[in-house]
Amino acid sequence: MEPLPEDRAEAVFEDYKLPYGDAQAVVEATRCLYCFDAPCIKACPTGIDIPEFIRKIATGNVEGSARTIFSSNILGMSCARVCPVEVLCVGDCVYNHLEVPPIQIGRLQRYATDKAYAAGWRFFEAGPDTGRSVGLIGAGPASLAAAHELRRMGHRVVIYERRDVLGGLNSTGVAPYKMKSDRALDEVAWVLGIGGVEVRTGVRVPEDVSYDALERAHDAVFIGVGLGADRLLALPGADLAGVRGAVAWIEEMKLGPTVAPRRAVVIGGGNTAVDAVRELVGVGVAEVTLAYRGDESRMSGYAHEWDAAKKSGVRALWSATPTAFLPGPGGAVAGVRFTRPDGVVDVPADLVLLAIGQEKLGDRFAALDGITIDGGTIVVSTGGATGRPRWYAGGDCANGGKEVVNAVAEGRDAARAIHLALTGGS
Ligand SMILES: Cc1cc2nc3c(=O)[nH]c(=O)nc-3n(C[C@H](O)[C@H](O)[C@H](O)COP(=O)(O)OP(=O)(O)OC[C@H]3O[C@@H](n4cnc5c(N)ncnc54)[C@H](O)[C@@H]3O)c2cc1C
Ligand code: SF4
Repeated sequence: MEPLPEDRAEAVFEDYKLPYGDAQAVVEATRCLYCFDAPCIKACPTGIDIPEFIRKIATGNVEGSARTIFSSNILGMSCARVCPVEVLCVGDCVYNHLEVPPIQIGRLQRYATDKAYAAGWRFFEAGPDTGRSVGLIGAGPASLAAAHELRRMGHRVVIYERRDVLGGLNSTGVAPYKMKSDRALDEVAWVLGIGGVEVRTGVRVPEDVSYDALERAHDAVFIGVGLGADRLLALPGADLAGVRGAVAWIEEMKLGPTVAPRRAVVIGGGNTAVDAVRELVGVGVAEVTLAYRGDESRMSGYAHEWDAAKKSGVRALWSATPTAFLPGPGGAVAGVRFTRPDGVVDVPADLVLLAIGQEKLGDRFAALDGITIDGGTIVVSTGGATGRPRWYAGGDCANGGKEVVNAVAEGRDAARAIHLALTGGS
């Protein structure tokens, strides 16, 4: 992979959750009650044995702790940084019921996995060659988890990725105050370090490699293409310069330099909108407004993230429906017109980001007999099996868009199902 440019706009961001030092990690780990039937494990889509890895930190066995984490979640390093733990494991820690601060599971996981990367501990090897081959479409978290698991079981693996950058949204989308793209690429290298994974970048399926070609080349295929481009709004002024999809802008900001406008409006109330407003503040935009058609209570973005956005100075415009993008000099956008219950309001802006969802990519597989698409999402059963023999799917393209940890769990489980199908259960 090419190194990322040094002048990436994301470089200005600091980690919003600072890493633990050795003493802090042991103190926090020692607080854990090591619950029987621990609710935190159930809340983790990859089912990491959380009390076990925390106990190992408390007893000074950090290498063993990292092994426990990676055994369930090979992307445990990025998940430690990007998981919304407040609504997953930490949110279900029993301490919440005792009015005691819950265990900081994400920060402990980051402590153990960062140590593993720094020390170069490797826990897994490729299995003996089975002579079977699996093609994976996309190089995001779902495919990477599947690829690693398939290599452990000795299958040959080829990843087809349309971009030059690997890692999917972990590299191109995640907020840089959680994880920057260079760290996401460290993880890609670490996962591929198991060896024997062939990666073909700049290859879009089926435009560059047809479905037939995939079926001829491989004994099974995994679809891990995630979601597509930002949804846009067909309103007057939609083609003005400065009216952009939020995910596209975030990708640019993470992978290269960006010019900060003076005033920006983000339209939407989900997690991408909340990330975008915080990122705009971070790159130096003086006035940032989040405009949402509902009120604060109806936002789907996580409340703890929105609270942080408000503290950073972001303004909110509730019950606001955009009706037009307003033109300024030279074909650039100058603002957005909204209707609100109390009338019309124009908000000046040099940049307008639309964070109203992403396209679903399932329809590109609808031509394949046996694959069912529901609202753009690929329908799968247990282990990611589609209705077409030897075709599996997982991650955002099959779950409709969740978190990195869901994609990892689904990629891993699909790999196990593929293994069973290819070996008859051996
Ligand atoms: C802005 C943003 C911020 C997010 N922040 C977080 C967060 O903080 N925490 C969290 O847990 N989750 C977050 N998510 C969600 C998370 O990133 C996704 O759930 C996760 O990356 C899904 O993994 P995936 O492998 O299914 O898809 P992706 O990560 O989207 O990877 C799919 C890959 O497939 C490639 N591809 C697509 N089509 C083709 C094709 N036709 N041929 C070849 N390759 C193709 C793409 O280029 C991409 O590399 C965020 C999402 C967004 C949009
Ligand atoms: S629920 Fe909390 S206290 Fe119990 S094992 Fe999990 S992290 Fe430890």
